[in-house]
Amino acid sequence: MRFLSRESGMCAVVSCKCTWSCGIWRSKVNVAYGWTGKILRVDLTERAWSVEPSGKYVDRFIGGIGIGLMVFWEEVGPLVGAFDPDNRLVFAPGPLTGTLAPASGRLEIISKSPLNYPTETVTRSGMGGFWGPELKYAGYDALIVQGRADNWVSLWINNDRVVFIDSKDYIGEDTYSTQAKLRKELDPQARILCIGPAGENLSRLAAIVSETSFVSGKSGFGAVMGSKRLKAIAVRGTEGIRIFDPGRLARVSKEVRRLSGRDPMREWTSRTFINPESQRTFLNKYRKQNTSCFGCHVACFAYLRVPEAGESQMHCLNYYYFSPATKYYGHSLDRDQAVADSIVLANRLGLDTTSIAGMVKFLSDLYQAGRIAPQPELPVDKVGSREFIQKLLSAIATRKGIGSLLSEGAPRAADHI
Ligand code: SF4
Repeated sequence: MRFLSRESGMCAVVSCKCTWSCGIWRSKVNVAYGWTGKILRVDLTERAWSVEPSGKYVDRFIGGIGIGLMVFWEEVGPLVGAFDPDNRLVFAPGPLTGTLAPASGRLEIISKSPLNYPTETVTRSGMGGFWGPELKYAGYDALIVQGRADNWVSLWINNDRVVFIDSKDYIGEDTYSTQAKLRKELDPQARILCIGPAGENLSRLAAIVSETSFVSGKSGFGAVMGSKRLKAIAVRGTEGIRIFDPGRLARVSKEVRRLSGRDPMREWTSRTFINPESQRTFLNKYRKQNTSCFGCHVACFAYLRVPEAGESQMHCLNYYYFSPATKYYGHSLDRDQAVADSIVLANRLGLDTTSIAGMVKFLSDLYQAGRIAPQPELPVDKVGSREFIQKLLSAIATRKGIGSLLSEGAPRAADHI
């Protein structure tokens, strides 16, 4: 692995060449509490990075979505497509991210979406976990990524240092092994988000994944990262966040936790699920512990272990294959293994389970209407089985056979079937 870095020029505030560690800039720009005052911009084409004041945004917008959309309004024209190097990927936490506030681990990602149909318009996608707070601790209110690298790279943001890491050896690695290797290489405490084979192959169903199942989905942003030849972004930060009234924030946070402590999401009993009783049984059978994003008391994730199907952190909204698998196997271990496969394999390959849920239904309907026949790489007569979901996910992530068409997403695939 080779490390390259190139710092760009002058401090924009006090016109000196520095790393923003002097603190003088803080008195020159309007830095509100909760914000760090800086935005990091990385140009992959130029292999360069720079730091800008965030004051012009944080004065006018509450949080990450506002900053991200304003960047698009100012910098990206309407004809720029999702895979165009001029497209931006904006990673933007909010003013509460990384503070004592409950559920403050959230991060917003804003970009042109390759999944939007028929036009690749700007959208946003949220991600939980720990990456957003770490970006704030590294000293940034947002990260703007633009351009396209000549060869595959990853970014290593370590407080005020930014390093470009050649990453061609990581291509083909799934999201779990990518993070494990990068953490070993860089810093065991680094927080990492990355793409898997789906993003590398520009599947419009590709997600950005952090840890095992903090996912930015429903947007195809994994493919936008892939189009920029950006495999991963690792962050480590040790700065604090200025709070105007820490005592009051602690009191309000405690009250919010008290009022929402019994959130039904924790037991995956939301009424949006088709059969919550059998899902609760599944959960209680395999759950090792509840897990959560940074600072969240609801803890709606669970770490599950299903025999001969692996183990992982899983989220309630990932239950998309529960009904098809129950229909195929009945209430059995095979069913539970198929459900686990549908979640863990999707996260490893970097695929968005919400989009895959729609694809499973789409293929099932096509088969029943006689518009598609079973084939070795896609046994559509076995929807609900382990074999079907494993082959479907793999084909879409690698664009193998019919997977190339399906990786365009259901609406675009429908135009060709
Ligand atoms: S653990 Fe669940 S409820 Fe809490 S912030 Fe994360 S996604 Fe939201």
